[in-house]
Amino acid sequence: MGKPKADIFDFVIIGGGTAAGIIAWRLGEAGHSVCVLEAGPPDRNPYIHIPAGFSKTLDDPKITWQFRSDPGTGIADRSIVYAQGKTLGGTSSINGMIYNRGQAADYDDWAQAGNTGWSYDDVLPYFRRTEKRVGTSVDPSYRGQEGRLTVTTTEWPTELEQAFHDSALNAGYPPNPDYNGASQEGVGAYQSSISKGWRVSTATAFLHPARRKFQVDVRCNALATSIKFEGKRATGVNYRHKGQDRVVLARCEVILAAGTLNSPKLLQLSGIGPAPLLARHGIAPLVDLAAVGENLKDHFSPRIVARAKPGLKSINQYTSGLPLVGQAIRWLLRRPNLLAISPGRVHVFGKSTPELDNPDYVLLFAPASYKAGKVGVLDNFPGFTVGTWQMRPHSSGYVRIASNDPLDDPHFNPRHLSDPADGPVLLTAMRAARTLLATEPLASLIEQEVLPGSDFQSDDELMDFARNYGATSFHLVGSCRMGLQSDGSNVVDPRLRVHGVEGLRVVDASIMPTIPSANTAAATMMIGEKGADMIIEDAR
Ligand SMILES: Cc1cc2nc3c(=O)[nH]c(=O)nc-3n(C[C@H](O)[C@H](O)[C@H](O)COP(=O)(O)OP(=O)(O)OC[C@H]3O[C@@H](n4cnc5c(N)ncnc54)[C@H](O)[C@@H]3O)c2cc1C
Repeated sequence: MGKPKADIFDFVIIGGGTAAGIIAWRLGEAGHSVCVLEAGPPDRNPYIHIPAGFSKTLDDPKITWQFRSDPGTGIADRSIVYAQGKTLGGTSSINGMIYNRGQAADYDDWAQAGNTGWSYDDVLPYFRRTEKRVGTSVDPSYRGQEGRLTVTTTEWPTELEQAFHDSALNAGYPPNPDYNGASQEGVGAYQSSISKGWRVSTATAFLHPARRKFQVDVRCNALATSIKFEGKRATGVNYRHKGQDRVVLARCEVILAAGTLNSPKLLQLSGIGPAPLLARHGIAPLVDLAAVGENLKDHFSPRIVARAKPGLKSINQYTSGLPLVGQAIRWLLRRPNLLAISPGRVHVFGKSTPELDNPDYVLLFAPASYKAGKVGVLDNFPGFTVGTWQMRPHSSGYVRIASNDPLDDPHFNPRHLSDPADGPVLLTAMRAARTLLATEPLASLIEQEVLPGSDFQSDDELMDFARNYGATSFHLVGSCRMGLQSDGSNVVDPRLRVHGVEGLRVVDASIMPTIPSANTAAATMMIGEKGADMIIEDAR
């Protein structure tokens, strides 16, 4: 190991991911010098940029972290592999591209818990600032049209997709032309961060332009190993680059944006975390903060899979040979095509009981089916999948360092279905999906339900299916919970400053106090936007 080299910027951001790209842009735009440390390589892999490449990147260890959860007692002692982005753009470079903000009530609840400035009215301007919504049904009081992140409704219509949509209407769900507008409830087309056939990540929309235009220095293959402190003030970051230990210093602040598993890990490695855990791994405690790594949340998703009648088309038939070539030609010609879409096509946001003010479950239609309900390996018959999840599960878990070696993955477990309140909502969602499969016009297009299949009928049998086959939706949040109290029950305050120290904020999906009723990228981008504003204000 050579002698550590030090250099200095106004801000050092750990992670070049979803939130970080936006923070880097905003700080650079405000005239600050910024160093971004990203553990992964640049986002050059072409599968990142072609939307259909999604399934190819998921298990590529060069551009993803391949974390494995501890076995969950609520899910038949299974452990689940969690891919997370490890490249510029972070998980926004490998995710399913669905743009879904959630419900006003999600953010109003954050504010009611003491997080002043995080009500829906407070955060709506930040959602709007990020996006450039393209298309029809755009209500400018909810939607942004001047932002850098293009959001579109892509087209690749199939008979199955239309039938699912019509069956949902026939089953009584209201049509909703814009679930990111006044109300989330109902059925409609998913919106995604895709523009002219290309994925829009926060690297392509924010980070790359920022490094070209502003004083933003992006260092790839740079693994932050700990935060450097002088007393209780964060002054820089220790990182490893090409086998060398280095230091980069921050004049103003260090911003931790390494994602829901790596952010708490880095805090713990740096002496901020539950004292007994730190002691167990020989780490000198700087702040005994019990909440670091707690409150881990995710959306757990059992998937109903059906085999469609012969002759019908789903994605399954287009992934090789001439059909794929045909789609590639259409992609080049910018005609509706398979390569340019996110597999999540139609949403149903429903209520498990009519008295509820807001939907509490999701049905997600994808015109593709994966072997044994897993993402990655497509069936060779025409098939489709209806993903189901509960929007705001009560179950929560933990992230804990496994050792004091920065190269070791942390132990973690979202503890799916560990809270007894969660099973009933999930059960209602699975039954709702089955009802749609039995409703015309979809019913006549189905040859057979493949998963769970006709053997699973009773509540117990369906829950058994969920526990044994349910997958993750990859929506990990909450492990550095935002909250007012500095008594150890929260990690950051409502300005995202880490309790008990100075000069350090966490700005990524990990700060969410509760999981929003949505896929989590849009909320993470909003956190990046709002976090950047607070950082700039406090630096004045
Ligand atoms: C497969 C998949 C599909 C998904 N689909 C959707 C979807 O369709 N819609 C949606 O809204 N949400 C989706 N999500 C969730 C959403 O993308 C994430 O919630 C969000 O992107 C998280 O952003 P983040 O900024 O918190 O972390 P990330 O975007 O993961 O950024 C963290 C970055 O920090 C880097 N990093 C970590 N540790 C270090 C270190 N020690 N040193 C330096 N760098 C480090 C990482 O490599 C990474 O680039 C999906 C997630 C996955 C995994």
